[in-house]
Parts: sequence; structure tokens; C-alpha cells
Amino acid sequence: MKIAVLPGDGIGPEIVRQAVKVLERLKADGHAVVIETAPIGGAGYDAAGDPLPEATLALAKSADAVLLGAVGGPKYDTLDRPLRPEQGLLRIRQALGLFTNLRPALVYEELADASSLRPELVAGLDLMILRELTGDIYFGQPRGRRALVNGEREGFDTMKYSESEIRRIAHAGFAIARKRGKKLCSVDKANVLDTSILWREVVNEVAKEYPDVALSHMYVDNAAMQLVRAPKQFDVIVTGNMFGDILSDEASMLTGSIGMLPSASLDAAGKGLYEPIHGSAPDIAGRDVANPLATILSVAMMLRYTFSDEGAASRIEAAVRRVLRDGVRTADIAKPGEATVGTERMGDAVVAALSAHR
Ligand code: NAD
Repeated sequence: MKIAVLPGDGIGPEIVRQAVKVLERLKADGHAVVIETAPIGGAGYDAAGDPLPEATLALAKSADAVLLGAVGGPKYDTLDRPLRPEQGLLRIRQALGLFTNLRPALVYEELADASSLRPELVAGLDLMILRELTGDIYFGQPRGRRALVNGEREGFDTMKYSESEIRRIAHAGFAIARKRGKKLCSVDKANVLDTSILWREVVNEVAKEYPDVALSHMYVDNAAMQLVRAPKQFDVIVTGNMFGDILSDEASMLTGSIGMLPSASLDAAGKGLYEPIHGSAPDIAGRDVANPLATILSVAMMLRYTFSDEGAASRIEAAVRRVLRDGVRTADIAKPGEATVGTERMGDAVVAALSAHR
């Protein structure tokens, strides 16, 4: 398991260090883990004048999986756009052909009252959103701004999906539903958009190859409503880039804690880039207060989706659950007045829980 580790900026190095401790624990238990580290984002710019240095991209390409912390920070906000940290992230996703974005929204019983919804609506929530990442209105041509004959300005974008783009994300959706609760909900706007009519047609065609997965369709406006009305009705949601962008952020807030949520972006062969959904949190960087659990849970996703090692993935998730059950809390998930631990001690607690349960 060759893993490229790209800590990035802000809290990135601190939280990634905890995830690396977890990987080292697995290695000590006999897993063939090889870790190589390289700079990305602002750190890439500092090291090589480029948010995605050539050597970093080469390492990422040669690795089986990439673990990323976060990029960005005020120090880099005034750089020209191509030199900005986020460009490093966009370019690496593109260069690795990562078209499936996986965003789980999982609510631990112990943290259910951190949600903005009533605890009984979200306790035990375990939902996975698959967002197509490389097509749709964000990339469709033509796009632009123009002046009309009457002098009025007009902006326009093109929503577009080819059959093959829909087919491959649909396959990914069914495959993941198969590994989970065997329920897939495809979200579109087929009552209004031609792109969505094709989306629905192709998803129905692909469904014939997965008779064991129950497929449903839902319009995006209803899905947005259902996510806050009764989110536990969903197992896996598959949708396009723009709808997924919005719905996955909505779903992440059901959990109430940005420091808990991992993500994965996968290519067709299962190679992936794994990262927490949060950013580099410059406001708390270097203070040993950031929550490393989203990054540690990203390692669990890596083991499940790239290395097909369900045993190790579940072991990490169980260790996190045990630590939460024991009341170990970083500041972001603590109730007022509750004792808290720092980033390092949270990482150590997860490693200790892993060691106690081989
Ligand atoms: P952010 O996610 O970094 O932070 C938002 C809030 O959540 C902050 O108050 C922060 O302290 C808190 N937070 C985030 N992660 C946390 C953790 N693990 N533990 C505890 N608290 C945590 O978003 P932002 O403030 O909008 O952006 C900061 C920088 O991160 C910007 O430069 C932005 O461009 C970048 N960013 C990067 C990514 C990425 O690398 N994927 C994603 C989003 C934003």
C-alpha cells in the first residue's frame, strides 16, 4: 500500500500526523504500508514556487492512494490565481482523473446533539453521497458573459452530461450501495432538464446489472427537503456535480461537526484521494486544538475503497467510536464545560483504542 501523504497548510500537518500514527499502527500489525510525504498548496508554493510541484504530482501518480490534509491560508491570498493553494487541489484531482466524490454523513450517537436537527432525527444517521466531480454545468461549454444587442449583459453556462459520464458514476453508485445498505437514490431534475432525463435513463439501464440494489429516483428540490425532514431514509445518494455540491454540504451540516467528516475522490480503478471535508482552519493552526478524526476516518475510507480492506477500515472506525464513547473530545465536539484534549492526544487515544482491539 503505497500512500502519498500531502499534509498541506494550516492545521493540515497536525491532523495528518495523527492519521500517519494510525497508518504506522497498522504497519506494526503487519500491513504493508509505505508512506512518502510531499508538499502541496501553500507549502508547495513555498518549497517549489508551485501549489502542485512536479515531484508531488509524480509521487501522487505513482502511489496507490493519496492522503491530503488541507490547503490554503491568508499568507497566500494575494498570490496570482494559478499560484493559489486551491489550484494545487483542483489540478491534482484533474490529473488523477478523480470523477467520483464520496461524502459520508455519519452521526455518532454520542454527538447527536451537536446537530442543528433534533437528535432523534439524526442519531445513527449513516448516509453516503456520491457527487460526480468532473462534468456538469461547472465544466460544460459554451459558457461566458456577453452583451446582448440591446446592450444588456448576459451570463450563461451549459449543463451537459454524456452517456458515458453518467454510466460510470452510476456504476460507482451501485457498487458502493452494494457494499452498504443496498439502497441507491439517484437525484436529478428530470421534470425540467433534458440533461436529467438522460441521467435517469442511463441510471435505469445500469440498474439492470445490479438487481440486488433497490434504486429510487428523486427530484433535487425534494431531496433537499427530505435531507432535513427524514435523513435516515437514505443509504446512498448519487447525483451530478452541481446538485451534489449543494446536497453534500447540506448533509454534512446534519452532523453538526465539520471536524468529523472524511471524504474520498476516486478514479475508475479505485485509486483515490482522501481528505477531511474541512479546510486548513488558519484560525486554530499550530495550537494543537484541531480535531484529527476527519483525517483519521479518511484513512478508514482509503482502506475500504482503494485497498478493499474492510477489516482494517472497520477497525479504525470502531476505534474512533470507542474513543467518543469514552468521552474523549476535542474542543469542536465538546459540550460547554466538558473537558477537552488536543490534536495529539486525540490521535494517541485512537491509536491506543486500535492497539487494544487488534
Ligand atoms: P475551514 O474549514 O478551514 O474552517 C471553518 C471553521 O471550522 C473554522 O472556524 C475552523 O477553525 C473550524 N475547523 C475546520 N476544521 C476543523 C477541525 N479539524 N477541528 C476543529 N475545527 C475545525 O474553512 P475556511 O475558514 O472557510 O477556510 C480556511 C482556509 O481553508 C482557506 O484558505 C480556504 O481556501 C481553505 N479551504 C481548503 C479546503 C481544502 O483544502 N479542501 C477546503 C475548504 C477551505
